[in-house]
Amino acid sequence: MTPNMMKAALCKEPGQPLVIEQVPVPTPTGRNVLVRVQVASLCHSDLLITSRKGGHTQLPQIIGHEAISIVKALGPDATPFGIKLGDRIGAPLWQDMCLECWECKNIGPQYCAKMTIKGVNNAGYFAEYALVDAATAVVIPQIDGAGGVSPAQLSPIFCAGITVWDALERAQIKPGETVAIVGVGGLGEIATKYAHALGARVLGLDVHDGQLEGVKDGGSVDEILNTRDLQPQDIRAKVAAMNHGRVADAVIVTSGSVAAYQTAISILRVDGRLMVVGIPNEPLQLDMGRVALQSISVHYAKITKQ
Ligand SMILES: [Zn+2]
Ligand SMILES: [Zn+2]
Repeated sequence: MTPNMMKAALCKEPGQPLVIEQVPVPTPTGRNVLVRVQVASLCHSDLLITSRKGGHTQLPQIIGHEAISIVKALGPDATPFGIKLGDRIGAPLWQDMCLECWECKNIGPQYCAKMTIKGVNNAGYFAEYALVDAATAVVIPQIDGAGGVSPAQLSPIFCAGITVWDALERAQIKPGETVAIVGVGGLGEIATKYAHALGARVLGLDVHDGQLEGVKDGGSVDEILNTRDLQPQDIRAKVAAMNHGRVADAVIVTSGSVAAYQTAISILRVDGRLMVVGIPNEPLQLDMGRVALQSISVHYAKITKQ
């Protein structure tokens, strides 16, 4: 039996701690399903949202856009999307897309003008119950037990995971290609694992030894390089030296630093692919002469984080 009220963690003022309050359990309308939140994870974007550096958050707001949850009730239009009572689901952070416009049909629903974002201008997952748009939900059949993945491990996949996967997919990585991941913290670590699983030769670049050693120990990178205090030409020479004379076919930049992008440009081969995931706070100067002469293509992952 679903209660009428639930506990929720609200961001009421930017820069202030979240406040736990009793609020009404929402009623699922339209395509929405009501879920009991099993696990919700904190993302770096949440910190930007709660500090108000993240833009357009409507306060007070229940934050959180990554979760694994159990379906408890269906909205009247949810059934065609294949979601059933009792299903365990995860979903990306966007919802309420029209599914009819050019952007929805051709590029992706996250570009729909009607789209709202969970935990930003729509209630998020830091609560006992939440609404999820059935059009975005993914059913997770069985994740417990021997060899399974826990809900806590799966939750960040619905933000960090799909972001770096999108970057790798758009980079069209082929087995045997060299993929450099610049920034091997949270998103970057996941990117190294996906790239490794795709059969790429994976180089991990960062300025923190601890993070580099973490991915090396995890077995998802072939080589690591600390780029701190190195000039771009030196980084290129070192990458070639550690990679049988070859530089990178594609570079995924998960760091939000300008230096990370300068590193990325310096280590790409002719006709290489630069994938933008981390967003620097300040405008980035790109050497367009190099981009043009080297025929470098720059692509943007569909969800990005700093
Ligand atoms: Zn996130
Ligand atoms: Zn649309």
